Amino acid sequence: MTPVEPRPDLADLERPALESALEARGHKRFHARQIVRWIYRRGVTDIEAMTDLSRELRATLASDFTLTTPVLAQREISVDGTEKFLLRLADGRHIESVFIPDTPAMTFCISTQVGCAMACAFCLTGKMGLVRNLTAGEIVGQVRVLADALHMRDTAFNIVLMGMGEPLHNYDETMRALRILVDEHGFDMPARRITLSTVGLLPALERLAAEEVMPNLAISLHAPTDLQRGALVPINTKYGIAEIIQACKRFPLKRRSRITFEYVLLAGVNDSPQDARKLATLVAGVKSKVNLIPLNAAAGIPFERPSDEAIDRFAKIVADHGVIVSVRKSRGRDIRAACGQLIVEGPKKSAAQQLAVVM
Ligand code: SAH
Repeated sequence: MTPVEPRPDLADLERPALESALEARGHKRFHARQIVRWIYRRGVTDIEAMTDLSRELRATLASDFTLTTPVLAQREISVDGTEKFLLRLADGRHIESVFIPDTPAMTFCISTQVGCAMACAFCLTGKMGLVRNLTAGEIVGQVRVLADALHMRDTAFNIVLMGMGEPLHNYDETMRALRILVDEHGFDMPARRITLSTVGLLPALERLAAEEVMPNLAISLHAPTDLQRGALVPINTKYGIAEIIQACKRFPLKRRSRITFEYVLLAGVNDSPQDARKLATLVAGVKSKVNLIPLNAAAGIPFERPSDEAIDRFAKIVADHGVIVSVRKSRGRDIRAACGQLIVEGPKKSAAQQLAVVM
């Protein structure tokens, strides 16, 4: 018996790949545009519903391809309007995506992995470990599901790859997802509306610098010295601060764009005036801005959020050094949708999740 080739999933294919796949099966390449329009513009999840394709074509497409869409399993809304979506994937695993309204733009916060291997000391997702990478179809699938659930297919929104996972640790699928998102016949997202946040995996960062589709870049710095950062972000022992800053200096930025340095503020750990001065000096040579993220505390996370005074003092010192600085407003903490609070494992709650009572 010859092994049966798995059918390609329409949701995983960039348009050029879809055109080739159609051609290889005896169909016309131009149907790719129609299919892409149906999936991303019209929100169709069933090949049968692509009614400008002939009945025969739809029937053969349905036997040649699949079209997989994450299933909305649960939806929670915060007092501040932030919404958290629990999505079930085809293999039964779950991921979370978050909608953050009016910041002032509408923002979708999207996952790139189930869990995460980076194990940052203050992040709940890191407690899950890496379960698996998402496919491009699953990454973009979150946008498809949220756009439908929120009736936002005709509304402009931003995308931040700041959900579960380290995007550069799932490089190829993340980049494929970006190319699908910017396709002019599909969502037609401007790349400047997409932000990729990374812990700074150097080789992948160098690769990203040469990509055609270039999102905004946010680097999770979190400490001004290797000693401090190494204790918070384990991968720092491999790719240290100086190398990351060098890579940022070389990064091909568009005219008006800047690299964002994210900095989680932890009481008594990295929030001293001296830390603020060191941080400002460190980023001074990079066209950048600093985004301070006061810790979103949770049971099981051995850190505390600094006082508002300490946060203001830190921000002021950084600003006084001529660095653009903002403090991220925490959104959706009551539904555990804020930064670093996304954690799921199967339909049954994990021990860590049961522990994860937001304080
Ligand atoms: N893996 C990517 C995306 C992480 S989520 C990265 O490391 O950049 C986006 C931001 O939230 C990161 O800067 C991350 O470090 C931060 N974060 C994680 N846990 C947090 C917590 N408990 N409180 C506040 N921010 C947190």
